[in-house]
Amino acid sequence: MLKIGLIGVGHLGKIHLKCIRLAREVYDLVGVYDADAELAARIAEEYKVRAFGSAAELIAAAEVIDVVTPTSTHFRVVKQALEGNCHVFVEKPLTETLEEAKELIELSRRAKKLVQVGHVERFNPALLALGEVSVQPYFIEAHRLAMFNPRGTDVSVVLDLMIHDLDIVLKLADSEVSEVRASGVAVLSETPDIVNARIEFCNGAVANLTASRISLKNMRKVRLFQRDAYISLDLLEKESQVIRLFDADATGIPERGQQFPLETPRGHRIIHVDQPPSGPVNAIQMELESLAHSIREGKPAAVSIEDGYRALSLAQRISDAVAENQRRLPHPQS
Ligand code: NAD
Repeated sequence: MLKIGLIGVGHLGKIHLKCIRLAREVYDLVGVYDADAELAARIAEEYKVRAFGSAAELIAAAEVIDVVTPTSTHFRVVKQALEGNCHVFVEKPLTETLEEAKELIELSRRAKKLVQVGHVERFNPALLALGEVSVQPYFIEAHRLAMFNPRGTDVSVVLDLMIHDLDIVLKLADSEVSEVRASGVAVLSETPDIVNARIEFCNGAVANLTASRISLKNMRKVRLFQRDAYISLDLLEKESQVIRLFDADATGIPERGQQFPLETPRGHRIIHVDQPPSGPVNAIQMELESLAHSIREGKPAAVSIEDGYRALSLAQRISDAVAENQRRLPHPQS
């Protein structure tokens, strides 16, 4: 059992608190701390947990610190936790700047402590359901659309929403980025609220991503196109669909799913449509538990601090490309 402390009990922090309680086989919740002392006291009363008077006291009492504070504070809080000899779970994005992220990587290596970043979509049942399906996409299309909510607008939509898909795309493409083009518009907040990015990878794969926080509906879809397969992931509905092409005389066509014959210039083929079953998964509980298992087994974190850095670095390139694009646009007549 690892002693865990939770820093930040706002909107998502409360959900983390419940998930830590569910992960009772691996974690013992020693207490919470929030800069808003009144909120911390209310949460302590409601959830029958101790509210600590400072982050330092909580860190001294814990082995693992779960950081669910605003992005602009991640660097300071994670640094303090690592210096206090704790392993860390930190919500996405890792930090606000690459310099901060680099410093934390150094610090975690020196302290020999794990840092896992909350790229929770890695634990989405739609993605987990792919299991043994071979994923080698040539082209990836991602749409993450959300209705407006002032929470999270302290950073651009790239750091707030697109970062989830950047982590997935980097994992699936499994190649270095060669080229980034992007454009975006700040409509309701001070930073871009809608962004489209085209990312080219050294292995030839291309990803086209759109993220918006000013949509009239919510959508989180990732579509993967690869040789002889099309994979569609609905991360909101937590469902996936795998459509594969087989030669008519191929062996090993999965029994589950539906088959349709198709005449193509390459001969008689079979379209196989499968909806891999995805069980009910509490993704936040699972990501928190995965950190405990990594600590116990001395293995790297499932979503490592380096993964968090890569996603942040790509987000930075996209933000720079958006800014560059905006500089070239004609200014509206006032
Ligand atoms: P929130 O504003 O609702 O809560 C943040 C809490 O942190 C507040 O209670 C605030 O008082 C407290 N706080 C601020 N500075 C602090 C400090 N220095 N020390 C201690 N407490 C401090 O924000 P939220 O929506 O819960 O978001 C928190 C983090 O979670 C952000 O980094 C955000 O990007 C991330 N997030 C991730 C997802 C996801 O899908 N993984 C979804 C939403 C938010």
